[in-house]
Amino acid sequence: MHHGPLIAILVAGLGLAFVFGALAQRLRISPLVGYLLAGVALGPFTPGFVADQNLANELAEVGVILLMFGVGLHFSLKDLLSVKAIAVPGAIVQIGIATLLGLGLGLALGWSWISGAVFGLALSTASTVVLLRAMQERRMVQTEKGRIAVGWLIVEDIAMVLALVLLPVLAEALNGTPAGAGPGPLATRFDLGIWGVLGLTVAKLFAFLAFMLIVGRRVIPWVLHWVAHTGSRELFRLAVLAVALGVAFISASLFGVSFALGAFFAGMILNESPLSQRAAEETLPLRDAFAVLFFVSVGMLFDPGILLRAPFSLLGTLAIILIGKSLGAWLIVRAFGRSNATALTISASLAQIGEFSFILAGLGVSLAILPPEGRDLILAGAILSILLNPVTFALVDRFAAEAPAKPKPKPGIAETIAVVEKEPEPEPTPDIAPTTLSDHMVVVGYGRVGALLGAGLIARGEKLLVIEERGDAVAAAKRDGAELLLGNAADPAVLAAAGLDRARRLFVAIPQSFEAGQVCEQARRDNPELPIIARAHSDAEVAHLTKCGATLTIMGEAEIARAMLSLCAQAEPPPAQVQPAA
Ligand code: AMP
Repeated sequence: MHHGPLIAILVAGLGLAFVFGALAQRLRISPLVGYLLAGVALGPFTPGFVADQNLANELAEVGVILLMFGVGLHFSLKDLLSVKAIAVPGAIVQIGIATLLGLGLGLALGWSWISGAVFGLALSTASTVVLLRAMQERRMVQTEKGRIAVGWLIVEDIAMVLALVLLPVLAEALNGTPAGAGPGPLATRFDLGIWGVLGLTVAKLFAFLAFMLIVGRRVIPWVLHWVAHTGSRELFRLAVLAVALGVAFISASLFGVSFALGAFFAGMILNESPLSQRAAEETLPLRDAFAVLFFVSVGMLFDPGILLRAPFSLLGTLAIILIGKSLGAWLIVRAFGRSNATALTISASLAQIGEFSFILAGLGVSLAILPPEGRDLILAGAILSILLNPVTFALVDRFAAEAPAKPKPKPGIAETIAVVEKEPEPEPTPDIAPTTLSDHMVVVGYGRVGALLGAGLIARGEKLLVIEERGDAVAAAKRDGAELLLGNAADPAVLAAAGLDRARRLFVAIPQSFEAGQVCEQARRDNPELPIIARAHSDAEVAHLTKCGATLTIMGEAEIARAMLSLCAQAEPPPAQVQPAA
């Protein structure tokens, strides 16, 4: 049967990414490595099937849009403004440092200064997808570190939008290449000069912001409210997708803003409406699938030959990305009085390059202001830095964990105040500290079911340990006085910290039966005697959970019916407010 290149890349890309990702997971390395290798296998530099690179890039772009939309949903304008004091100078200084280092390497390789500068600029921006994945894995997006990193990313994004617009003009001024040669926007075709183009771009950025804050802020929530009231889940999902993709597209084509930035603002506007949480969940599965395709598309660009052709230049490039940029970011964050742990995390999250670097490199080559070797180095630098990013994070975790144990040099007064003031929120540590409780109750999930149950247990004077992964639910559990384990209970490391061998009872109060089953199975292994009470929503789920080791499984729907029936037995229901017409 005939099939097109789109089907081929979806099947091969997602299929191989799954196989390699699962293998990586088994080998206890980040699944990202698997996705990247799947890309290398599908790319033109390895034998066998070669997928369509352009299609892969476009699919990856959809991933970036959905991801940034999701981040925007968890961000308010207030959050963004609260970090501007550090994110704006931080990103600008870091871009400056990386550009200078790149320029130095370029000059050492015998390139012109403009090639060196473009090269350095391409090395200065971190990949949105890589950064967000790392933050999400560590549940850091909502913490202060996460906010700074995301704010930093937004500033970098804006700087890159400016760079992409200005490069064609600069190239024209330098070597007479017609500005139309690159994918520059319309404006460059008119003879505006460099300041004119810069002014126009900034004006368009502001026009976009104003448009989103005045029109978008009213129209988008209104549309979603309206759709929610139609009661069609399918339509609602469609509306969320249409808003995310539509705003990204419009912002790129009308205002010259990047897709990612457009989607971020679309999400941020929804953050103010109560529907936002639901909207976020609707885009989750699609977002994850497309984010995987992003890594596959990066892997496809990798030419292993560069390792032999230019090993030292590549080492230099990597050193700039991994060491130069990190050191720069670390110094800046420290200079702003943030703790060492925050500075290390932010440096690690920015020690990689991604999508914008490719776009910039491609533009540079097409304008003849970057030698093709520069682009190859950028691509190889990107894939290697993305591969090494989990390692960088692991190192940071170790350093950050060790740091407080060392006797600290006396901090200056200003620094002490800054640390006290700026780090009030407890941040989740990636290592999970095992509980010391015994004879306690464990509740997994503190949502509609778990919270009622937990409050009841505490009222009876029980010792309670809650395992939860969502920020607001965690806060509720804390308020109620429970001890907390932050994370996914289906993750063996999290569950192992719950002291199940000493616990009195385990309540699995989450609605996802596969995860609940995994929790029951492991708990049963940890403690064969433990009474496990699980939540289900269908007979099939009851059977599954029982098989996985639950002692008793309660089906929500059956209990609702029972409660309704018992109401009938006790008293007549309250009179209906609207009398049906005769
Ligand atoms: P509800 O359906 O309202 O009772 O909410 C279920 C709660 O369980 C939510 O707060 C989720 O964040 C939480 N939850 C779902 N799955 C897990 C999991 N695997 N580990 C920890 N918490 C979970």
